[in-house]
Amino acid sequence: MQKKSSLFWISLISAVAVVAGGLFWFFSTAGEWQKPEIRLSKDLRSLGQQGVLTLELRDNRGLSAASVRITQGSLTLPIASVRFDDKPLRQRTVNVPIDPFALKLREGSAVLTVSASDRSLWNNTTVVTRPVTIELSPPQIFPNNPVNIFFPGGAGVVTYRLSKPVAQTGVQVDQAYFPAHPVLIAGQASYVCYFAIPMDAQERLVDMRITARDAAGNNAASAIPRTMKSRKFRSDKMAVSDAFLQQKMPEFQSAIPALRGKTAIEVFRYVNGALRLENEQTIRDLCRKTQPRALWEGPFLRMKNASPMALFGDRRTWEYQGQVVGQSLHLGEDLASLNNSAIEAANNGVVVFTGPLGIYGNAVLIDHGLGLFSLYGHLSAIDARVGQAVQRGDVIGRSGTTGLAGGDHLHFSILVGGQFVDPREWWDPHWIEDDVMKKLQAGSL
Ligand SMILES: [Zn+2]
Repeated sequence: MQKKSSLFWISLISAVAVVAGGLFWFFSTAGEWQKPEIRLSKDLRSLGQQGVLTLELRDNRGLSAASVRITQGSLTLPIASVRFDDKPLRQRTVNVPIDPFALKLREGSAVLTVSASDRSLWNNTTVVTRPVTIELSPPQIFPNNPVNIFFPGGAGVVTYRLSKPVAQTGVQVDQAYFPAHPVLIAGQASYVCYFAIPMDAQERLVDMRITARDAAGNNAASAIPRTMKSRKFRSDKMAVSDAFLQQKMPEFQSAIPALRGKTAIEVFRYVNGALRLENEQTIRDLCRKTQPRALWEGPFLRMKNASPMALFGDRRTWEYQGQVVGQSLHLGEDLASLNNSAIEAANNGVVVFTGPLGIYGNAVLIDHGLGLFSLYGHLSAIDARVGQAVQRGDVIGRSGTTGLAGGDHLHFSILVGGQFVDPREWWDPHWIEDDVMKKLQAGSL
């Protein structure tokens, strides 16, 4: 009797376990009831001439199909429908191009509807709707400056107005993009952009245009009229002496462990090559974040009683024992006066970097607002801290020989939008007045 009863219970428990296991298996596979997850591109509020909707789809069981349609007024139009037969089934990213012109949609509001189904027996389906604005006309650009005089290697400034608010605007110079900043000119909402003119701008046709893109992705461009002046840059050969190597290379070897055990000339090749490029990139990266208004005023200060030792754009070929051991392009002006001379902030701004910076030695970088920066290198002492607001003429350090410097001097650079430009323009009161300030004044409209 007892044996029979325990057998009964064992059978019952086993049967229940089998059924539960079966149900569990069924509801976690073919009979799964969880709906697919749909995510739409976050920034898609408006659709322009060429919109792209990005769908991120996810499902535990596997996706079977998805479709997109758009409704405007009483009209509903299919845009895309896909079946998923290949892998991966559980997660898909689908880009759906939407062409409102081809669909004959009007400017104004519309609703996007996205649905996705899975492979479960119940064909679980999720439907998501998203209101969008159809915007077909690109922004219009109204440049303020019909006459622009530029120098190769120098800076350019343009101001302009736009017909409507935009998502992005700036100046494109070949592959380089310079963001513009909003300003008021004669009480009108306008934009100003500082950008760099390529050093070889006189020898070829440079693509230089104001661009604007609205939230719907409609693009506009306006070529910048210009007169390109000529500017010659220097090329010279520089001999690397043993005395210079012995004096300077240990500093780099102690800062960079990988250079220990290398010969002095191997260290020089690295410092003048890879390290120089790395330092330039660090400076460009530091210039990405800038104050949204002009902090500077009037011409920049040039180091007092200083002689120019090397100019912006000097191309140097370095030789050691008759062999070429490197090339370099000088991206600032070297100014020499007495040893340990006071170094002054060239204009008002905010200090964004202080400290050792490879070939530039102890350096200070100042943000003057709207993408304009000044750099001071080879300092023997730094008397400024990051975040400090400085006025033109404030002492920020002392000249020295830190970094790749043979004798005591200041390396001074100016950058616009992360690109090095010829600093001489910014010292010149006539250039500042004619090529910058006039463009920001009411009369320019
Ligand atoms: Zn220099």
